[in-house]
Amino acid sequence: MKKVTIIIPAYNEEDSLPFLYERIEKMVNQIENYEVEILFVNDGSKDKTLELIKKYREEDSRISYVDFSRNFGKETAMIAGLDYATGDAVIFMDADLQDPPELIPEMIKIWEQGYDDVYAKRKSRKGESWLKKFTSKMYYKVLQSLTNVEIQKDTGDFRLLDRRCVNALKKMRESQRCSKSMFSWIGYNKKEILYDRDPRIAGSTKWNYRKLVNLAIDGITSFTTSPLRISTFLAIPTFLALFIYFIYVIIKCITTGIVVQAFQATILLILFFSGIQILLFGIVGEYLGRIFNETKNRPLYLIKEYNGKRETNED
Ligand code: UDP
Ligand code: MG
Repeated sequence: MKKVTIIIPAYNEEDSLPFLYERIEKMVNQIENYEVEILFVNDGSKDKTLELIKKYREEDSRISYVDFSRNFGKETAMIAGLDYATGDAVIFMDADLQDPPELIPEMIKIWEQGYDDVYAKRKSRKGESWLKKFTSKMYYKVLQSLTNVEIQKDTGDFRLLDRRCVNALKKMRESQRCSKSMFSWIGYNKKEILYDRDPRIAGSTKWNYRKLVNLAIDGITSFTTSPLRISTFLAIPTFLALFIYFIYVIIKCITTGIVVQAFQATILLILFFSGIQILLFGIVGEYLGRIFNETKNRPLYLIKEYNGKRETNED
């Protein structure tokens, strides 16, 4: 019998978990012909999330969990889920029921048809602000224009991945992760299914705009180095303009004998070039920072326990 692992990252989700468990259980009971594993990754929650998970596990042997030593973020919780999943396919799902579990049987059906990556695409985004929708749309546009890899729009992490995708993703151990671009990058046979994204059932979102901007920058810099090329693109016309202006000043000097009112031009030029330099330093810094983080070569996460077994970090 084939096994499907449902991976659920959870951070301070004590309010959502009872609803989640109820709905997942109902759905899972309807799945025949498959073994199901429900793998929670407790991302350093400070509330009763872990206690709840442990309680469910006592009653339901299909449940396993990984407990992080602190909050590492959803992206890291996802790779931990991949590391600990034992299924022939995995399904990522949020703990707040924004991803309807009822879609899972359909995903499995499509997987059976031979697709490796069955991703859920949002038809609508209830309970999300106009600004969030707009910024995410613009972001996709920018990201897509920077790369040849096709990026799936309006999709989150809610998807089913075949074992070969899981193994591929497990090989990608970079520390500043952007799963969305990784899902695109690995390729394989993809198939979308449409759904309505619900508002979260309880509790509050763990995202804020600062986190989103960080994620957006990570998304771009992890995907492509083309921002580095901005320097080249900016530098060529800049030097051309500078050269022409230089010739103009000299000719004017020679022909009319009037010295150009230099101070205004100088100030403008200084501002212009320092602006460009700051921008380019920033971009170089972005990549330098990434190199720095990767060369540290730290484990992506640390865990306290896996299914009740204490992790001691001995090999
Ligand atoms: N999450 C996590 N670690 C974090 C933040 C969030 O594991 O540091 C989990 C959270 O418990 C939920 C999922 O990631 O299951 C999505 O989080 P949230 O609903 O807050 O994000 P949104 O749906 O607003 O994008
Ligand atoms: Mg949510």
